[in-house]
Amino acid sequence: MEQYETLLAAVAAPAGDGREVFDPATGDLIAAAPADTTAALDDAVARAVAAQPAWAARSDEERRQALHRMADAVERSADALAELLSREQGKPLNGPNARFEVGACATWLRVTADTPLPTEVVVDDGTDYAELHYRPIGVVGVITPWNWPMLIAIWQIAPSLRMGNTVVAKPSEYTTLSGLALLAVLNQELPEGVLNPVAGAGDLGAALVVKPELGKIMFTGSTATGKRIIEASAGNVTRLTLELGGNDAGIVLPDADPVAIAENLFWGAFINTGQTCAALKRLYVHDSVYDAVCLALVEVAKAMPMGVGLDEQNVLGPLQNRMQFGVVDRLVEAAKASGARVLLGGEPDRDQPGNFYPTTLIADIDPQNPLVVEEQFGPALPIVRYSDVEEAIALANAADVGLGASVWSGDRDAARAIAARVQAGTVWINSHGGVHPMIPFGGVKQSGYGLEFGTEGLKSVSAPQVVNG
Ligand code: NDP
Repeated sequence: MEQYETLLAAVAAPAGDGREVFDPATGDLIAAAPADTTAALDDAVARAVAAQPAWAARSDEERRQALHRMADAVERSADALAELLSREQGKPLNGPNARFEVGACATWLRVTADTPLPTEVVVDDGTDYAELHYRPIGVVGVITPWNWPMLIAIWQIAPSLRMGNTVVAKPSEYTTLSGLALLAVLNQELPEGVLNPVAGAGDLGAALVVKPELGKIMFTGSTATGKRIIEASAGNVTRLTLELGGNDAGIVLPDADPVAIAENLFWGAFINTGQTCAALKRLYVHDSVYDAVCLALVEVAKAMPMGVGLDEQNVLGPLQNRMQFGVVDRLVEAAKASGARVLLGGEPDRDQPGNFYPTTLIADIDPQNPLVVEEQFGPALPIVRYSDVEEAIALANAADVGLGASVWSGDRDAARAIAARVQAGTVWINSHGGVHPMIPFGGVKQSGYGLEFGTEGLKSVSAPQVVNG
């Protein structure tokens, strides 16, 4: 089993070099992260191009076995990966956090390895015969965020490699060490040049996406950066999968049981301390159950310890970076200034060395308040009261993003009827945010386009080819 110190030493920059990385819980220095130049990026792309034909020439079975070996490697180094992830990202070891994320990396690798993608016979009528094949695209560029830095990387890398592509992967500048550590572990099982890390802050992402050698870019991050990537992709007509986050709504119907749904509501909103693309970010609750839902949520929230990730009892951590602390702080202050009612939290220590923002629940808030209409991406949930479900659906659909949504009810059919009218890539019923390696996932509107996971995910990193005749 690989030790934390060995793993960190393998990816950190030499002393005096690189960018200093600080623990978001304590402010303590972790190590320096390497900062690659654009020349290093050119090398990485060249290596990916050189390695691709041989990787594509391997049989699907060989590549599937490679993914399983990568899962074995992740499992061998699971403790060290989780510790580094917890220190750098801030998420606790326990709860749906660091150990969970590392475990899910192995699961996603294995399921992606075993997902069938047979050649489709699209016409066979005695006159015409045509098959649809899924060929490798070539080199895929992978740009990943800081909230789930290992799992999101796996979501992009695993299907890309399975389908015969090689990869150039750039971790977020906020979680470079975690990203590089995962890539180093995966590379224990891959031939040279198949998976190529580049690390840096500033303009490396922009330099990567204009490379003509890339056939596809997978990006998870902000809508603003996604739009710049769309513009850049025009130059080479590069294919894109964009997962640009959202402002997910939840609608609680009058027949929901407040106590029964409270824990799922809580984790829907506060998983990874709210720093999750498909977290519940605005909750619309019918007047008849409003007070009971608020009360039940406060009770659950008060029982969830927040603190340093390496302390085993904690299930909520700090915000990963000060930029995000500033976003949450600004939005909660706007809510307070509007007269909304603070049920819990809302009073951060702004002088602490870390980035802890307390678990915050805000009631009786105007539906147009900035905390409702902007993405907070942190541990602060606005709870909006409604009396007419048509109004709740209209408010849910008013956003220009649509990644996920949820409907909460004792009547599954009633919930499904509402779900059909909500504009979102996924609508969960009586839960929020759960993903599964066989279930396609993607957004509508400005949450991006393209599906990940399952058969659809494999297709999205392939070049379809019709063989006709
Ligand atoms: P961004 O989404 O803006 O992503 C920044 C990453 O994109 C960096 O790695 C950066 O690399 C790269 N990048 C920047 N410009 C370009 C470009 N023109 N072309 C290609 N790549 C580029 O995230 P931030 O970290 O700035 O977070 C901002 C907001 O994004 C958060 O407040 C949150 O709302 C949202 N977010 C959403 C996530 C999700 O899961 N959907 C995850 C994280 C954040 P480089 O520095 O080298 O240019």
